[in-house]
Amino acid sequence: MIRLSQRLAALKGYPMAEIPAIKRRLVEAGVDVIDTGPGDADYPPPAEVITTLQRAVENPAMSKYGFQQGLPAFRRAATDWMRRRFGLEFDPVTELLPLIGSKDGLAHLPFAVLDPGDVAIIPEPGYQAYIGGTVLAGGEPYIYPLTARTGFLVELDEAPTELLRRTRLLFLNYPNNPTAAIAPLDYLERTVATCRRHGIVLAYDNPYCDLTFDGYRAPSIFEVSGAREVAVEFFSMSKSFSMTGWRLGWAAGAPHFIQALNRVKSYVDTGPFLAVQQAAVTALDNAERLIPPVVAELTRRRDAAVAALRREGFALESPRGAMYLWVALPEGVGSAQFARHALERHGVVTLPGVGFGPAGEGYFRIALTVSPERLVEAAGRLGAALAEVRGVEVGVK
Ligand code: PMP
Repeated sequence: MIRLSQRLAALKGYPMAEIPAIKRRLVEAGVDVIDTGPGDADYPPPAEVITTLQRAVENPAMSKYGFQQGLPAFRRAATDWMRRRFGLEFDPVTELLPLIGSKDGLAHLPFAVLDPGDVAIIPEPGYQAYIGGTVLAGGEPYIYPLTARTGFLVELDEAPTELLRRTRLLFLNYPNNPTAAIAPLDYLERTVATCRRHGIVLAYDNPYCDLTFDGYRAPSIFEVSGAREVAVEFFSMSKSFSMTGWRLGWAAGAPHFIQALNRVKSYVDTGPFLAVQQAAVTALDNAERLIPPVVAELTRRRDAAVAALRREGFALESPRGAMYLWVALPEGVGSAQFARHALERHGVVTLPGVGFGPAGEGYFRIALTVSPERLVEAAGRLGAALAEVRGVEVGVK
């Protein structure tokens, strides 16, 4: 009998893993499915970025191993962008590392930071790579439930000192997936100060920094003074440029953190595809022109969907960042049950809050990945689904 690792066993299967199969079955049966599940927008990457990729693929040098160094032009474009975007200077060689999507870096950082018994504080609901990397690296996850009470912020000062003493790593993500919360600068200052006091590495996951609305501008963690001592920040090409499947992001931080992550990754991968790095140069060098239309479209989607969902009786905030709506369910309606009913009976894919960890129960997530009209249609169907699910609940009682 083959025995698999206890670390693997500690990672539970995703509760709604069957969603893609149900969706395929419905589509094959002719159902008009609206997919607001994964954060993967329906618009393509910018045309000029696709053209650069096409040309790059023709160049045989781009088919070689990229290794961790990758394409110097990409490192230069990423550090130039950080200078323009945040006013921050990073050395492209020693303070930046290309990643195969930011998930790569988030999941591998714990291998560089944690020893057995070391704690990583994981916000929940949250991106599952945090707990995945922590558990696979042999660390001990401490789940911090994100709730409306704290504005979905991790309040480190509420954690017992004994826990903070054992904590080596904290994951934070603002603008947040899935709650769409944003972090005020004074919160980030407080948190960096606590991390410095306790020697905690702060993994600041920032893939949505450019998807912000109503004039809000999301900061880099490095705008906080002293952050370079403790933070590693993760950026992604996926969301701002719709390059999800191309798999490219980067980590930025002090040379010893970058070197440590580089060492881990040199044992498990050989770097992102060079042609994709070349295409990312076109994207980043033109970010100021390419991103505003995306934000304008997401704003239209957000406004249409928030209004329609409220009309249907759902309770939700209008978010100022990311590309998600985090929608509360009435007391007693299970998120997995609701999401399954909405999909099977009404052809709307959402993600149940519980899919982001037990603390996400009581909510579901809608990704703003389809047109305003489709989101309004989805809201109507979700309203009908809710009425039915509640009807069943009432009938049972
Ligand atoms: N962090 C968060 C919070 C995310 O939502 C995602 C993608 N959904 C990622 C990181 C990873 O993005 P990627 O690996 O595509 O860069």
